[in-house]
Amino acid sequence: MNSLPTDFQSVYGPVRSWRYGCSLGIDPIGPVSVCSFNCVYCQLGEIEEETRRRRVFVPAERILRDLQAFDLTPVDVVTLSGSGEPTLALNLGEILGALRDATNKPRLVLTNATLLADPEVRGQLAQADRAALKLDAWSAEQLVRVNRPAPGLDFPALLQGIETFSAEFGGELALQTMVLSPWTDGQLKSYLQLIQRLKPQEIQLNTPTRPKPRRRELAARGNAPGDYPVQVLKRVAGETLAALAQTLSQASGIPVRYPPPEV
Ligand code: SF4
Repeated sequence: MNSLPTDFQSVYGPVRSWRYGCSLGIDPIGPVSVCSFNCVYCQLGEIEEETRRRRVFVPAERILRDLQAFDLTPVDVVTLSGSGEPTLALNLGEILGALRDATNKPRLVLTNATLLADPEVRGQLAQADRAALKLDAWSAEQLVRVNRPAPGLDFPALLQGIETFSAEFGGELALQTMVLSPWTDGQLKSYLQLIQRLKPQEIQLNTPTRPKPRRRELAARGNAPGDYPVQVLKRVAGETLAALAQTLSQASGIPVRYPPPEV
């Protein structure tokens, strides 16, 4: 582990989440963005280190120290996401345990699910109260086009990891799907087949509401606009998301949520 800059803040926000309320951000990754994906719409900008190798980035003690500066009274949930993929943090389980003891708040992990084929990762993630798993692709081609995964990532193994975790997890499990353009009937059918297999308790549809920074900005972890160059991404119309949500929930029986128009 490289030593962290003394001015790096591993706790940030709280930010307002349309799905989870007042969310205090926990960054287990650190000043350099690190992820096993490099999604075309990533609010962090281009990922600086794309890897599937886990390591300790931010010690749990550092997170506990930074947490002391925050008033937890208005916080609804503490959310691990931050500067990349939280399951890359080898100490994810230790961090979740420390946050349970220190905050007594529900702990949510936003993950791209790429490491869930690994039982150790599933075991650590299972300590969370809520998990929101990214699923933007219904085919290996779509995965490459939208998520631009690190070399060696296998789409069937990714799906198997989600399916196994979904069956094992005792907390609240949601699938989060970014909708970049209206879906064809064939795409809808493929997605429906996947969610019937993966059995989430909820589906959250998103569209790119946050601009993509043109260079790395730590402030991009939160959802407040910053004073730095960005690329504004094309959004899908609210009516399109609403119609898709209705179709998906009627066909699957799974509740589907999407951001309110003001987000
Ligand atoms: S998984 Fe998340 S952090 Fe990683 S590139 Fe995609 S949007 Fe960014």
